[in-house]
Amino acid sequence: MTNLLTVTSLTKTYDAAQTPALSNVTFGLDEGKSLAVLGPSGCGKSTLLRLIAGLETPDGGEAAMNGESLNGVPPHRRGFGLMHQDLALFPHLNVRDNIAFGLRSQRWDAEGIQRRVNELLELMRIEPLADRSVDAISGGEQQRVALARSLAPRPRLLMLDEPLGALDRRLREELAQEIRRIRDHEGVTLIYVTHDHDEAFAVADDILVLEGGRAVQHGPPEDVWLKPATPFVARFLGHENLFPCEVSTTEDGANEARCALGTWQPIDVPTSQACTALIPPEAITIVEPNQNGAEATIEDVTLQGGSYDVTLNIRGEKLRARVLVGATSTRPNPNTTVSVSIDWNQVRLLDWVE
Ligand code: ADP
Repeated sequence: MTNLLTVTSLTKTYDAAQTPALSNVTFGLDEGKSLAVLGPSGCGKSTLLRLIAGLETPDGGEAAMNGESLNGVPPHRRGFGLMHQDLALFPHLNVRDNIAFGLRSQRWDAEGIQRRVNELLELMRIEPLADRSVDAISGGEQQRVALARSLAPRPRLLMLDEPLGALDRRLREELAQEIRRIRDHEGVTLIYVTHDHDEAFAVADDILVLEGGRAVQHGPPEDVWLKPATPFVARFLGHENLFPCEVSTTEDGANEARCALGTWQPIDVPTSQACTALIPPEAITIVEPNQNGAEATIEDVTLQGGSYDVTLNIRGEKLRARVLVGATSTRPNPNTTVSVSIDWNQVRLLDWVE
């Protein structure tokens, strides 16, 4: 299967800037799939979208659709949709006319416009709002109208730039799921820009992580989560228990991994002897002192959702654990001494050292 969109060595330095906003970015995207472009503010996400949309000209490299370069093709001839966080709905038009806007400028006939707008009102579950002014609907509803408007002309590629950034957490989760449903219904190919990894994971088939204008990892969400390619990606995803690790072969030929917190026989062996051990919070169990396990002091406890986020200190090493509320009869207490056991089978070895 060939990619619908191919981006090759795309590079951009803005006038007067010292460093490139985007540097040598390469990836492919298959038809009907969604890619989340993930990274902190200023890493080049919007620049990438603007280059693909044709709103900026690259200094090097290209984006191509079905193998044909887009260099020199003006934005309106690319057949792409782009939706920004600020939505830019037309306040003087009602919901229906906002959705119809792009179809009118593309000179669709009146019957075609009506059919497509009705279809989108139904798809986005906003039929009762059709004749309302866009000023008289909620933020989440405005988001749906903006999405319907970008989908209306059936773009070959739809790009969403931090589309849910302004909404509260519950609405963001709900709309992220909706975007998946709508993508499947419309079969549209999607690029979704966000700094929120939960949102990226909820929406995307593939994730492209940018750091300082460079693509540092590209792959399915599960791979990015389980095997972050760099320390930056690991920390950006919220992984905290990262320890330098050495893998060696014992006299009887077994592999042995050793980090500051223990020695174990790893299942997967990285390519280099020196690596990093990632200990997921779920792998850590806190037990009463003097039971089998390493002695630790509880430094801090915060309640997050349904679990306690516990910071432990083991021989000077910090370790974050998660304890389900209800799993212990009492709240873990700072400054108390406990024993900690680690399920080494859940520990992952990553191919880099900080
Ligand atoms: P993101 O979308 O990830 O926040 P941007 O693509 O907006 O990142 O910005 C990447 C870098 O390029 C930043 O350092 C930003 O300050 C710079 N930048 C963005 N737009 C311009 C511009 N029009 N002129 C000069 N520098 C810019």
